[in-house]
Amino acid sequence: MKPVHHYDCIILGGGPAGMTAGIYAARAKLKAVVLESNITGGLVNSTYTVENYPSYPSIHGMELMQRMREHLDSFEVPVEEVCEVERLDLTGVVKVVETDEAIYQARAVILATGRKPVPLETPTPCDQVHHCAICDGAPYAGKRVLVCGGGNSAFDESLYLLSLGVAHITLIEIMPRFFAAAATQESLLGSGKAEGHTETRVVDLEVAGDLLVAAILENVATGKTWREEVDGVFVFLGQRPSNELFKDQVTLTEAGYVPATSDMSTNLPGVFAAGDIVDKPFRQITTAVADGTVAALSVERFLRAR
Ligand SMILES: Cc1cc2nc3c(=O)[nH]c(=O)nc-3n(C[C@H](O)[C@H](O)[C@H](O)COP(=O)(O)OP(=O)(O)OC[C@H]3O[C@@H](n4cnc5c(N)ncnc54)[C@H](O)[C@@H]3O)c2cc1C
Repeated sequence: MKPVHHYDCIILGGGPAGMTAGIYAARAKLKAVVLESNITGGLVNSTYTVENYPSYPSIHGMELMQRMREHLDSFEVPVEEVCEVERLDLTGVVKVVETDEAIYQARAVILATGRKPVPLETPTPCDQVHHCAICDGAPYAGKRVLVCGGGNSAFDESLYLLSLGVAHITLIEIMPRFFAAAATQESLLGSGKAEGHTETRVVDLEVAGDLLVAAILENVATGKTWREEVDGVFVFLGQRPSNELFKDQVTLTEAGYVPATSDMSTNLPGVFAAGDIVDKPFRQITTAVADGTVAALSVERFLRAR
């Protein structure tokens, strides 16, 4: 039998939105818990330098998230990391969240599950496919990598990989042009250690034993394919909302985001949303913490009204 824990508010996701909601919930004397499927910090953990978070002109993403976590911990809000939510029932007055370890019950839930990278779909699975240069780049010093994507993230992360000592980068974009800022494109493609191909996609990966040896690439305009010897692949194809857990219960937009109202409430009473999962024009750390603030204060108002 799994233990049953009772809370005022369950916060799903421990990124900036979820952690801020936890801080505000604690300050409102609510008994809250943060359930995080990975480690706290969310997408910011994979951001090398954050230069637009007020009070820190420039700070390493992981450091900023560590400080946010310490702030949350100072209120003794319990945080369950690497926990897998197996069942979620948001429809009743009492919401139920079942993880692999326990059952959590509360009258309010804040959905702060953010977004996750669009995966690279290839027939051959491979352990050397990554979505974060900061997290996984170091072992590729002196090696050759393929970077998928032609936006700012792909170019910025490629420059970071070069700073780690990666020997050569092949960067591919399926569209006819790259979308990164011109100066960033020049820095990377003028480095002498990187080449870029537009109208190009990965058809498959060639693996020997457990190790990646090459990527099979295709020019989508001409149909020509070729084999590129690489030791690793870094994928920056954009983000999609992490809504799998609640997509059958909460109203979503066509693109899969939660259309929250100005107090961050959803279509279900007692269920609020915050951060990148919300349908909104700008997804930044500041907007995520703002949403987390409003969501927690709305939970407080919702619970006190009952
Ligand atoms: C490459 C990149 C660079 C960026 N750089 C900047 C920048 O410089 N400045 C800036 O302001 N913004 C930046 N952003 C945007 C910023 O990272 C996001 O707006 C912000 O992280 C959103 O916070 P969040 O808490 O809503 O979501 P996230 O940070 O995505 O956190 C969501 C959390 O929920 C967890 N989760 C997901 N599903 C579940 C589940 N089922 N159960 C439990 N937990 C779950 C995830 O593991 C994650 O920890 C960048 C984004 C990217 C992709």
